[in-house]
Amino acid sequence: GRSVHQIQSGQVIVDLISVCKELVENSVDAGATSIEVRFKKNGLDSIEVQDNGSGIAPDDYETIALKHYTSKLSTYDDLSSLQTFGFRGEALSSLCALSKFHIITARASDGARGTRLEFEQSGKLKSTSVVAAKQGTTVVVETLFHNLPVRRKELEKNAKREYSKVLEMLQAYACISTGVKFSVSNQVPKGKKMVAFATNSNPNTRENLANVFGAKALLTLIPLSLEFEMDPSNRPGSTQSVRNWGTQEEGSHTVKIVGHISRPVVGEGRGLPDRQMFFVNSRPCNLPQVRKAFNEVYKSYNISQSPFVFADIKLDTNAYDVNVSPDKRTIMLHDQAALLESLRDALAELFEGHDQ
Ligand code: ADP
Ligand code: MG
Repeated sequence: GRSVHQIQSGQVIVDLISVCKELVENSVDAGATSIEVRFKKNGLDSIEVQDNGSGIAPDDYETIALKHYTSKLSTYDDLSSLQTFGFRGEALSSLCALSKFHIITARASDGARGTRLEFEQSGKLKSTSVVAAKQGTTVVVETLFHNLPVRRKELEKNAKREYSKVLEMLQAYACISTGVKFSVSNQVPKGKKMVAFATNSNPNTRENLANVFGAKALLTLIPLSLEFEMDPSNRPGSTQSVRNWGTQEEGSHTVKIVGHISRPVVGEGRGLPDRQMFFVNSRPCNLPQVRKAFNEVYKSYNISQSPFVFADIKLDTNAYDVNVSPDKRTIMLHDQAALLESLRDALAELFEGHDQ
């Protein structure tokens, strides 16, 4: 039968996207300025994420893949002021249960020596060996879901589609991460390695977008910079939302939205992929209602094609909750209705002011 560990792991690691998301976030958390993601056969054979971050301390080797081990949270109070992506210690433990998994890691003080870590399915450290390695960590995930036949079949069936969704997600991380060099490649059987995309260590998101979507794409974009005060208590019929602000003091909150969007001009935006990327405090996330608001405002200006949107919503950390789903992909915005209303108004104002 299936172990409890396997079942629980399957809630954190649900697909190829969750694997890549967890590994890339770990690299960002480790302070990496270079992150290389290598797929073999669209990720079916393997996914490797190599970074030049802090590396793993030898004291942590034994515990790193145990369930609920995390080096990122020292007290419960830290949860509210959390700066890192990770804090649950579930990703590595889940990957041990669901794939053939190993790590190579080296710290700055290790010279050219690194350590290869092998784990049991339970996450217990099985063996260590010395290998040549540069500073940083490489996590290797082979044959994902090898021990869950139904999931494995599903993955094999949808490999190409999953892979293209993964690329979109990685592009979002690459574009939002300034000062981090990203490179993503895929090796198909007998074929040569294909670079999917790469960014330089750019100082701003604009140059990241140019690297990923081509310099020409920038010509059709305008900067997005909205700022509005949100006062939930002013909105009629919003008592429920007001309560959702929880411990917030009464009064308004400043919301900033920064990024890049297609020019609100009919016929523009062609040549740009129909892509919409949303972030909350630079954390990539799915925000279907925000997406809808953008689309509707564009539509009200008779711009039929889907706009390109890259929008980072800067919010108070207690104005949203990332803990709603185990995979942390869904973010719950407290008082979303008021935010959407202000967003629509601010966008309309921006479009009115724009030379059509
Ligand atoms: P979390 O990110 O929630 O702490 P994970 O299971 O993703 O949990 O990782 C467990 C621990 O492994 C992390 O807390 C960190 O100490 C270490 N770790 C994982 N990936 C890396 C990496 N790329 N570089 C350095 N340390 C890492
Ligand atoms: Mg993590």
